Amino acid sequence: MPNKTNTKSAELYERAKRVMPGGNTRTTVFRTPHQFYAQRGDGCRITDVDGNVRIDAVGNFTALIHGYGNKRILDAARSQIEVGPCYGMSTESEIRLSELLCERLPSVEQLRYTNSGTEAVMNAIKAARAYTGRSKIAKCEGAYHGTYDPAEVSQDAGPSTWGDIEKPKSVPTAKGTPQGVLDDIVVIPFNNVTVAEKILRAEGHALAAVLVDVMPNRAGLVPARPDFLAMLRRVTREFGALLILDEVITFRLGYNGAQGRFDADPDFTTLGKVIGGGFPIGAIGGRAEVMSVFDPSKGAPAVPHGGTFSANPMSMMCGIAAVEELTPEAFEKLENLGHRFEHGVRQLFQMHGVDGQVTGIGSLRRVHMTNAPLSDYRSTFAAAEGPQRVAALARALFDEGVMIAGNGLMAFSTPMRKDDIDEILSGFDRALKTVAA
Ligand code: PLP
Repeated sequence: MPNKTNTKSAELYERAKRVMPGGNTRTTVFRTPHQFYAQRGDGCRITDVDGNVRIDAVGNFTALIHGYGNKRILDAARSQIEVGPCYGMSTESEIRLSELLCERLPSVEQLRYTNSGTEAVMNAIKAARAYTGRSKIAKCEGAYHGTYDPAEVSQDAGPSTWGDIEKPKSVPTAKGTPQGVLDDIVVIPFNNVTVAEKILRAEGHALAAVLVDVMPNRAGLVPARPDFLAMLRRVTREFGALLILDEVITFRLGYNGAQGRFDADPDFTTLGKVIGGGFPIGAIGGRAEVMSVFDPSKGAPAVPHGGTFSANPMSMMCGIAAVEELTPEAFEKLENLGHRFEHGVRQLFQMHGVDGQVTGIGSLRRVHMTNAPLSDYRSTFAAAEGPQRVAALARALFDEGVMIAGNGLMAFSTPMRKDDIDEILSGFDRALKTVAA
């Protein structure tokens, strides 16, 4: 349980404000009246600089599937750092990680590495444009795919900007996004087969790709309907456009990634987070034929791709350890932890007479404080004062020793045991009392 003293975090935040805008470098970790500063992690627990210990139920926004201090990852990191953190040469480790991932992902024959999921998506978009000679990309309203400006269009749209559901507008996220970027993004409603198909058909031959996450967090962490995914595949094939599956978060849903679980057959797959074992990483993969746009062996590639730290051996070595630790047994365990949580928290919402539900599957979950049906971004957004109530719940949980994301996102990790889920649930029990009051 946290001791609830935050003096050192508050002091560090005062220092940070002088040298960093808003004292912050990641908007996702910003909090008022001050940010919290981590000291160390251990298993599934995180300790802040004031000595508060909390159970970490989001694991750096879903990246830490093995929590902190996994022995194999530690050994990999130590052995690599001894011989150099990175070089201006390739290493065998990038081949090994690629072999592992290609073996698991049905649609992936070849891979390249980046330093983040954002860069992976950026390169997938560039590759699709180069391959098709077209410029337009379709994406789902409210879906987050990192911070490359075409990818972030309409991720934060609201009722005053999003337009009619039959023709959602391309809404800029960062001020100053060029009009040309907005014109090249086609926004479709997630899980709405009829409307999305109509929009895609109207753009048909101008489309380079459709970019989709099968369970977009910001759009509610609701799984894609099978007929929605099937429609995307059918229409992209018909018009000669590519399908990019963003698995930066969802790779953790199964041994064969989300594409195995959802039976999806994309042209490109983007990866990140868990495949780096806690080190910065992103990857783009696909069939050899489409990946050839990056191939420098026959002259200048259609899409040159470098990156000082791309495929750096720290991320590769720790990634190998992390992926090898993701055995079928590990997935079964993660799945059971997710079920235990879902079942327990449903009972708690009922017991406290508080509106609430859990979306997501397996080890990836999101709590919402509404009973309204959620199917896409607009229904999640419309859930009355839900988002503020969830933020209040997340804050109350933090005070009770459980760390989740401010929007209710949670990710379970392999060091967790049933007891840890029960500890999370007792945190919810106490926090719901505060929120319900
Ligand atoms: N794509 C998805 C689906 C994500 O959830 C994220 C990050 O949360 C990204 C891409 C961007 O990844 P990164 O934060 O590593 O740039």
